[in-house]
Amino acid sequence: MSNNLVAFMYLISALLFIFALRGLSHPESSRKGNIFGIIGMIIAIITTLMFKSVLSYAEIGAAILVGGVIGTTIALRIEMTALPQLVAAFHSLVGLAAVFVAAAAFYDPASFDIGVIGSINESSLIEMSIGTFIGAITFSGSVLAFGKLQGTISGKPIVYRFQHTINAIIFLFIVFLIIIFVLDQSPSIFWSIVIISIILGILVVIPIGGADMPVVVSMLNSYSGWAACGIGFTLSNNLLIITGALVGASGAILSYIMSKGMNRSIINVVLGGFGGEKDISSSQNSEDKIIKKGNAEDAAYILKNADSVIIVPGYGMAVAQAQHALKEMSDILKKEGIIVRYAIHPVAGRMPGHMNVLLAEANVPYEEVLELEEINPDFPMTEVSFVIGANDVTNPAAKTDETSPIYGMPILDVEKSQTVLFIKRSMATGYSGVENELFYRDNTTMLFGDAKKMCENIVKSLN
Ligand code: NDP
Repeated sequence: MSNNLVAFMYLISALLFIFALRGLSHPESSRKGNIFGIIGMIIAIITTLMFKSVLSYAEIGAAILVGGVIGTTIALRIEMTALPQLVAAFHSLVGLAAVFVAAAAFYDPASFDIGVIGSINESSLIEMSIGTFIGAITFSGSVLAFGKLQGTISGKPIVYRFQHTINAIIFLFIVFLIIIFVLDQSPSIFWSIVIISIILGILVVIPIGGADMPVVVSMLNSYSGWAACGIGFTLSNNLLIITGALVGASGAILSYIMSKGMNRSIINVVLGGFGGEKDISSSQNSEDKIIKKGNAEDAAYILKNADSVIIVPGYGMAVAQAQHALKEMSDILKKEGIIVRYAIHPVAGRMPGHMNVLLAEANVPYEEVLELEEINPDFPMTEVSFVIGANDVTNPAAKTDETSPIYGMPILDVEKSQTVLFIKRSMATGYSGVENELFYRDNTTMLFGDAKKMCENIVKSLN
């Protein structure tokens, strides 16, 4: 394939990736976006396979087969609630790939057309070391994030004094090592950059935990894009540079939006460590407090007599797969002339847009689904807040308790409505591990049980 044709095909792929991102930015166009992405990737792979420099189709075929089978099996088996850790695991592989490609180029520069051993082009050395640095950080940070999200490592933030200063010093030391590496091209310096960057990746993620994890996942997503972009420079592959930059930039924008949504500073996210420095146990003092319990009939009665209801879905709705029963319930209420809307918190569930996807799957009309800023002013005028499997995203401690790890995070103001119905199975805390004092308020009724079963029983009672 001629160079011009390769450039043209890559341009088409890049455009399709941009259309894919555009499509994915709205639930209605997301399927189309996905198809654009798939076509773009197929064109990119076929074009790359047509390179004259390809040495062995058998090896590439075997790698695609093994990777494809593993990827398809995981995609078919994965629970939607486990997606964040899966994404983190995949990011770690991108980071590792960046390190391996840089190592391959360093040990066999002639194959990459970047000079010979001991006399590699300066610009290639800079690209290589930056790619290695970002790749290694992405690798270890993502492995740690995977462990925290999966629950294999404690999700509790680990904080110590001078954390930011230590991270900044390590960063400067890596910059120093990169300069030495560019000057003397020593393998030991190359591997020192890898090891110290791996350590920095761990140090950047350990102080983050609880409710702030989503921002980290999206930041690592961005890092993995920049790592891929770095590999693109090493391989002189324009498409990889463009795709990496697209992932890097869109991940950075998502991190910015999410950290704004969580009221955290993006600088702190990048440097590692924010929120979570407070003692979680301080807000837990639940003994002697009284809760009001209800059942499906009570809930049906309260809902039927309301004029307006705001449904607040959370992670528990995803676990119970309660969205269809919930939609059935809201259809009955709407037939009774009750205004029903859904309030979505930016980090509800376990991945960005988690609740939107589930509600779309149950055919909830998009216009009934409102974001936090749009719906929060309406809670005081609302009779019933119907909280289904959500916890952290409604916790008023985020507004009032300066000692709480979630302090500062905006929440859905459900407590301002006349009545709050809370479906969950127990008094357990949510992801952040912080108790929700809302359970003890006078206007709260706890509906203990599985979210799907409870909705089905409410539907029976309403009928
Ligand atoms: P939470 O994790 O705060 O709470 C979910 C609640 O659902 C739990 O308290 C649990 O209580 C209940 N629950 C679980 N299973 C069921 C079930 N079958 N039926 C009924 N209830 C159930 O969820 P939120 O959505 O309120 O908040 C999301 C949290 O996750 C935030 O802290 C966020 O930062 C974090 N997070 C978000 C990510 C994202 O990208 N959106 C990624 C990673 C973390 P019980 O056990 O008593 O039933």
